[in-house]
Amino acid sequence: MFSEGFEKFVLKLNYPKHCIFCEGLDLSIKEPKHHPSYEITTACNLNCIYCYSKVAVNRGTAPKEGYYGDLNPKVVTISQYGEPLLAGVDKVAKIIEKLREIFGDVRIDLQTNGTIDFTDLDGLIDIAMVSLDVANSESYKIVTGKDKFHDVLENIENAVNMDCILTVRSVFLPNFNDSELVKLAKILGDIGVDEHFIQPCSVYNDCLNDLLSVGFDVERSNSLYDYLKVVYDCSEFVNVVIPGCIKAVLDEILKQLEDLSDLKFVRRNSIAREPPKIRREWRFVIDV
Ligand code: SF4
Repeated sequence: MFSEGFEKFVLKLNYPKHCIFCEGLDLSIKEPKHHPSYEITTACNLNCIYCYSKVAVNRGTAPKEGYYGDLNPKVVTISQYGEPLLAGVDKVAKIIEKLREIFGDVRIDLQTNGTIDFTDLDGLIDIAMVSLDVANSESYKIVTGKDKFHDVLENIENAVNMDCILTVRSVFLPNFNDSELVKLAKILGDIGVDEHFIQPCSVYNDCLNDLLSVGFDVERSNSLYDYLKVVYDCSEFVNVVIPGCIKAVLDEILKQLEDLSDLKFVRRNSIAREPPKIRREWRFVIDV
């Protein structure tokens, strides 16, 4: 039996603002496409052990620079691959201004690893999503290969006062960051971020050995319950959210379970064969 608190939590779980308008929310769409995106660079100043962008670069399937999507988007993500701010905050600002000139009232979601201050984008972005998976420098070095934990935390603290939704995105690495995610949730709650977006890990073969070397448990990463339990533990401190596409599947599963405690037996396949490719059409590049 689950605790009453856990059961109530699972039933009222929500997804981040970033997922609004994503096709992934609609289970009737067979091959949902991710939001349109403007790709700036595939380069990154970190080397995260699970990173799909790194896998795509190594396999030669990463996207080229430019806008991918239809010509009347509701949302543009900057960017799905690499670290966009490496191109310079000024350049990113000019690209956003140009995208708004072209598309009008479009939501702009920035995805960043948070190592570079982005407060100069205040007023230009609607959602800032900063990646951070751990709660101390040592673990950060293990996950990313770099000593930038305090830089990221400082940039998150500075971003709290920006006029946008501030979301911190963490990947659950079972047996490596279970307790650290909870500590991180407390830190983020104290800082006052809007959302702590916790995702399960997609494991690419290219990354498997590195993940195993830090104790990552593939069997536990297949367990929906283990993932939701960590999310629940974090919810004591901060507004936690899960991917909209997972929430949609979870809702379907919950409809079919006679007893919620059967959730313990539900498995997901965390092994991903190929890194996601952008399945939207390349349209143009903005010359700034
Ligand atoms: S997490 Fe899922 S629902 Fe949310 S934006 Fe990504 S693909 Fe869409």
